[in-house]
Amino acid sequence: MPNRIVVVGSSNTDMIVPADRLPAPGETVLGGDLVMAPGGKGANQAVAAARVGGNVTFVARIGQDIFGHAALENLKREGLDTRYVTQDLAAPSGVALIVVGPNGQNLIAVAPGANSRLTPTDVQAASSVFRQARAVLLQLETPLEAVEAAARIGRAEGATIILNPAPAQRLPESLLRLVNILTPNETEAMQLTGANSPETAALALLRAGVQTVLVTLGEDGVLVAKSVEFIQHMPAFSVHAVDTTAAGDAFNGGLAAALARGDDLDAAIRYAQAVAALSVTRMGAQPSLPTAAEVEKLLEAGING
Ligand code: ADP
Repeated sequence: MPNRIVVVGSSNTDMIVPADRLPAPGETVLGGDLVMAPGGKGANQAVAAARVGGNVTFVARIGQDIFGHAALENLKREGLDTRYVTQDLAAPSGVALIVVGPNGQNLIAVAPGANSRLTPTDVQAASSVFRQARAVLLQLETPLEAVEAAARIGRAEGATIILNPAPAQRLPESLLRLVNILTPNETEAMQLTGANSPETAALALLRAGVQTVLVTLGEDGVLVAKSVEFIQHMPAFSVHAVDTTAAGDAFNGGLAAALARGDDLDAAIRYAQAVAALSVTRMGAQPSLPTAAEVEKLLEAGING
């Protein structure tokens, strides 16, 4: 299938306890009922792209435990190609332990488990799907060698390489030069470069060899840097925000889906912003991701909703 998207990244199970306040070190706080939800940036972005009609192959590692089984079932239910989701015999599935306090304050510890054992060999095993891919979508919750292998194979096959550099870490130029579109949020853009504004961060990233930088600015939209002479701002859709969890994941999944079906960059950014705007109007990560029909409706209504 020529409009295929390959997502290489993490799969986690989020275990969320709502509480009246966050515990101090050594303290036990009694919270509300446990909420278990599929998560991980890789899985969230893969599901975001599939919900809006993308043809998605997900390359990941999960454990052979109840969390891994549940994660795999969820990915299948969302219509993803899971042939390259490997069940690791030696490591547990990725889990995020989250306590949510008042006003959305949170405390999070992630056990990456099998995610940290994703290898370049796992990525190479999927090389036949990279051959059919229009877009390759990557994040930084799996080892850098696997991310770089995916970028290299995707580039060699002529796919557009999108890297969402989250969580932020300094990246080698060998990787940045393989990236067509880098999508940090404002904080990540500054962490990646040490710059003190999104504009100077975008310029530094262009100079390091990235083709296009999209700095997402939350409700302020996106800074689009296509070259050092061409930096432009695109506004967000105006919506009533309820929970901004996974806005970035929705944006990246939407962007990959739009590019894979042949949209030009400006149209794809607009589409991605519509997907992300709808996701912030609802609670949760994957449950908040919209369908293609919902996105079309928002696009028709325009940026003022
Ligand atoms: P992250 O979730 O990675 O921190 P951002 O907060 O920058 O990413 O959000 C990503 C995109 O989601 C933005 O560029 C914008 O299009 C959309 N978005 C985020 N928050 C809002 C909001 N309050 N209203 C409308 N769109 C939003």
